[in-house]
Amino acid sequence: NASAMDAILRDLTPPQREAVQHIDGPLLILAGPGSGKTRVVTHRIANLLHHGIDAHQILALTFTNKAADEMRTRVQGLAPGRPVWMGTFHRFCAQQLRRYASMVGLSENYSIYDTSDSKQAMKRAIEAAGVSTTHTSPEQIAASISHAKNRLIPPEMMTDASSMTARDAIAARVYPVYQQQLLTSNAVDFDDLLFHFARLLRENPDVRSSLDQHYRYIMVDEYQDTNLAQYAIVRALSIQQPNLAVTGDPDQSIYGWRGADLNNILDFEKDYPNVTTVRLEQNYRSTPNILRVADQLIRFNRRRKHKELFTDHPEGDPVVLRIYEDGYEEADDIADQILDAIHNEGLRPRDFAVFCRMNALTRSLEHAMRKRGLPYQIVNGLEFYQRKEIKDLLAYLHLINNPNHDVALLRVINTPTRGIGAKTIARIQQHADRLGIPMLEAARRADEIESLPKRSASMVLNFVRLYDRLRVKATATLEDLLRYLVEETQFNDYLERTSVESTTNNPVANVDELINAAVEFDLQHPDEGSLELFLEQVALVSDVDAFEESDDRVTLMTLHAAKGLEFPRVFIIAVEDELLPHRRSRETEAQYEEERRLLFVGITRAKQWLQLSHCKRRSIRGDMRPVVASAFLTELPRDDMRLVESSVDRDFFENEYSDGGYPDSWDLPAIQVGDDATASDDQTSQVQPPVITDEDVCQLPDHEGDDDVVREAVATESS
Ligand code: ATP
Ligand code: MG
Repeated sequence: NASAMDAILRDLTPPQREAVQHIDGPLLILAGPGSGKTRVVTHRIANLLHHGIDAHQILALTFTNKAADEMRTRVQGLAPGRPVWMGTFHRFCAQQLRRYASMVGLSENYSIYDTSDSKQAMKRAIEAAGVSTTHTSPEQIAASISHAKNRLIPPEMMTDASSMTARDAIAARVYPVYQQQLLTSNAVDFDDLLFHFARLLRENPDVRSSLDQHYRYIMVDEYQDTNLAQYAIVRALSIQQPNLAVTGDPDQSIYGWRGADLNNILDFEKDYPNVTTVRLEQNYRSTPNILRVADQLIRFNRRRKHKELFTDHPEGDPVVLRIYEDGYEEADDIADQILDAIHNEGLRPRDFAVFCRMNALTRSLEHAMRKRGLPYQIVNGLEFYQRKEIKDLLAYLHLINNPNHDVALLRVINTPTRGIGAKTIARIQQHADRLGIPMLEAARRADEIESLPKRSASMVLNFVRLYDRLRVKATATLEDLLRYLVEETQFNDYLERTSVESTTNNPVANVDELINAAVEFDLQHPDEGSLELFLEQVALVSDVDAFEESDDRVTLMTLHAAKGLEFPRVFIIAVEDELLPHRRSRETEAQYEEERRLLFVGITRAKQWLQLSHCKRRSIRGDMRPVVASAFLTELPRDDMRLVESSVDRDFFENEYSDGGYPDSWDLPAIQVGDDATASDDQTSQVQPPVITDEDVCQLPDHEGDDDVVREAVATESS
């Protein structure tokens, strides 16, 4: 009816409307931040529904579960009715693989290994493959294998790669062993979800064709961050029905380190020759001041096409660049500014976000906010499920769901402690490896293992009996199962014996929290085989999923997690050398440019007001070190910005810049700590970069980028 149609098309510019009303044929929406790409996708889904297209024929792939949830709510508002499938690539592939598990050598109750499970499995595979890790590390081997999977290279092909580095050569020997062990465990890692499904589509034309027919309309938001496997999947599903609509902004591609391939978007017009391309040039999010800063910065990237972006919004406040003495001052001042704006300008905590390059940097901020009673949320959905006690219980659930899950077995066989030592476990593992059977099966046959003392064997058999008791409950509600599990294993006694409670961590309360999650899940899934579904959901929680827009809290998150979001006021902290750009990004220009895009993404999240800051010193794991401002700060349009020097040391600023503004020759050394009026020359020469370990950094660039040869291969195969 007319009013529904009006709601769909109202508040759209002519080019946005063109994209929304496009129905058949490929569509590319290429536009800068805040220009309404995501809004167009949402309204387009509503428009398709309004034109009588069945909800189940539409597939909307998003980058995070959160983005999917938001889109779902908006579409429901515009076109109520049967829901459209919206979610991440990984979730979509996970569901399809349940259906077609046997075609890739899995059974339908297969498990999804999370990052730490995969790490365990990788260690075991490296041992079993007998390769030396003196010149490489398990992480590097894992990265090589992941890279291969993202480019759809199967184990048997990795050795064929023409230009193989020494590291890849070692990885090529581990890869088949790792893959075989995963299959034996009836498990997949994250990359496998895409890899198996892409292969399945390639090797089974009937399946491909029927899914292609089924999903008539496919949409992908944030297409600039898809990797080759994702590319191959959407390509394979849009051959007979090429109604594929993608949106993207090459300047916001920030997942190259995970194998994302910018060419996917740059070549879209080549891949789909009769494509309709829509460009959106009006920004609806930010003030001109903020947009100018973003634009100036991104112009320094060489590998890009320039896009004009304009806005009708009023000028707004200048962007602030603030220099602090140290991270504590930075945290206190930001918390004060927020509090002040809440008291004096009528803003709400939810209007503010603080972004940083890595999670570890939020700690002093948390402290500062707690001290002032400011409500905040740390967007790191993974965190809860990474807690030891939660991982332990989940491992039991995994093993109950999938008895072949060796990583889970290793985790729980002696947790809570039941006298099964490392030697015993090693013997079970060897036995399992020798026979090519899952470890639980080997444990069941503990009596057969000659090297195993009687006493150890009987402990192991006790564990197997416990397992069998738990397994009987697999079909109970999730809540009953969990309560029974906690009881049978005397889990809370074990926690009280072994863990240290602190103000920020209470393990027993965390267990209750998990049970609460189970209760809620049972309510939502009353008649489904809920255990498997629950485990899948937990495994696919991504780091932005904990973000609750409805909560009235200040948001603390990484720059990566901020993608696609917007906030009235934004602080970006620690814009410092070694962090942003990250120290590892120096190796190639491509990586360095990706760091610049990451800052660009952060800047363009701000609607009305933005502050960038850096410190002179920062405490990294208790160690106070001098730090250097990010070179990116020298690329900003300083005449348009407001520079504020830290309160403690105003002399420094006044002496250095007597005109009170930015000097024309403002450059990196000018804000090194060595120029601090109180620092001696000696200190200048001793400026040392902070030592940041990989553990501290949420994401590390690790991949070189494009591989045209593989792309070509995929392109020809799918056409
Ligand atoms: P990003 O690249 O950051 O993902 P985007 O292009 O997806 O950005 P949206 O998030 O869809 O942009 O839109 C940015 C903001 O502008 C949103 O608040 C949206 O509601 C608003 N907006 C978009 N188009 C219009 C319009 N025609 N009229 C009013 N507001 C609009
Ligand atoms: Mg968007």
